[in-house]
Amino acid sequence: MTTLLIADHDNAQLSDQTAKALTAALSLGENVHILVAGHNADSVVEEARRLEGGDKIIVADDVRFANALAEPLTDLILSLSEPYGAIVSAATVSGKNVMPRVAALLDVMQISEIVDVVGPDIFKRPIYAGNAIQTVRSGDRKKVITVRTAAYPPASQGNSAAVERISAAAELFEGSRHLSDELSISERPELTSAKIIISGGRALGSSEKFEQVVFPLADKLGAAVGASRAAVDAGYAPNDLQVGQTGKVVAPDLYIACGISGAIQHLAGMKDSKVIVAINNDPEAPIFQVADYGLVADLFDALPEFEKAL
Ligand code: FAD
Repeated sequence: MTTLLIADHDNAQLSDQTAKALTAALSLGENVHILVAGHNADSVVEEARRLEGGDKIIVADDVRFANALAEPLTDLILSLSEPYGAIVSAATVSGKNVMPRVAALLDVMQISEIVDVVGPDIFKRPIYAGNAIQTVRSGDRKKVITVRTAAYPPASQGNSAAVERISAAAELFEGSRHLSDELSISERPELTSAKIIISGGRALGSSEKFEQVVFPLADKLGAAVGASRAAVDAGYAPNDLQVGQTGKVVAPDLYIACGISGAIQHLAGMKDSKVIVAINNDPEAPIFQVADYGLVADLFDALPEFEKAL
């Protein structure tokens, strides 16, 4: 079976989520073609070519794909879909925007956020905020799949896959239009690709305290900053930092939870982290049940001390 993997990128860089989704795609079958739809995205094409396991990079360069709008991208994917047994994307913001449309227009079910491929038509995926793993069998002729990338290592590099340039159909759906991007610019690593994350919870008490206590430590560690939903809802941290069931799902090498109780909805977003450190002044806090290292302490004492020691 040949699989079409949709590359996630910003025309300049390939998201490392695509390298992880490729690992999942390779467990579906040996042949994987990677679609890079964008505009002036040659550096992305070069990165995609290097991924071990990609047989061919299909490049659709067109100004209509410059902003990853779901509607024209869906039309492109549908026009290419015929020979593929599976169409796969990382479950990123873009993947979650495009793939349900692809599935609906192909009249198949989307198989969402898989964490394991048991067989060509059997997949595992988390349900109930990650508290149960469901095994699903799909009878659809074509599988449309999003991948929970926290469950997969990135494909290695060293390949030099062939490139096929195609031109998009003259007519693409034009019901949406890109107006502008409002991006939060940060020098810190992006949450979903960071190796270290330091997260703050409601205990921080204000956005000023968040900035005074969490951010300097993150900078010393070269870490990304995360937050619980309580901290986000209270306005202590912007909502793109939220980790959890309704935030981002992360699996860094090191996750440091500061003043976070460990509600299941938060754990759903971080419990696959390799090493979890919890700092909480309540020894009964549920976060200690998933932590590899726990420190029962006031975070306003512990974090500045930690920072000084680095
Ligand atoms: P709290 O639960 O109030 O915990 C604060 C912790 O800080 C306590 O354990 C306390 O002992 C400790 N503390 C207090 N002072 C200090 C101090 N000085 N030093 C050290 N420790 C201290 N939550 C998420 O995080 N992400 C989600 O995506 C998410 N999605 C949700 C979706 C749904 C449908 C629902 C219903 C809830 C969701 N929640 C989510 C909310 C979740 O249930 C919790 O309410 C939230 O995670 C609690 O955040 P918290 O741990 O920061 O706050």
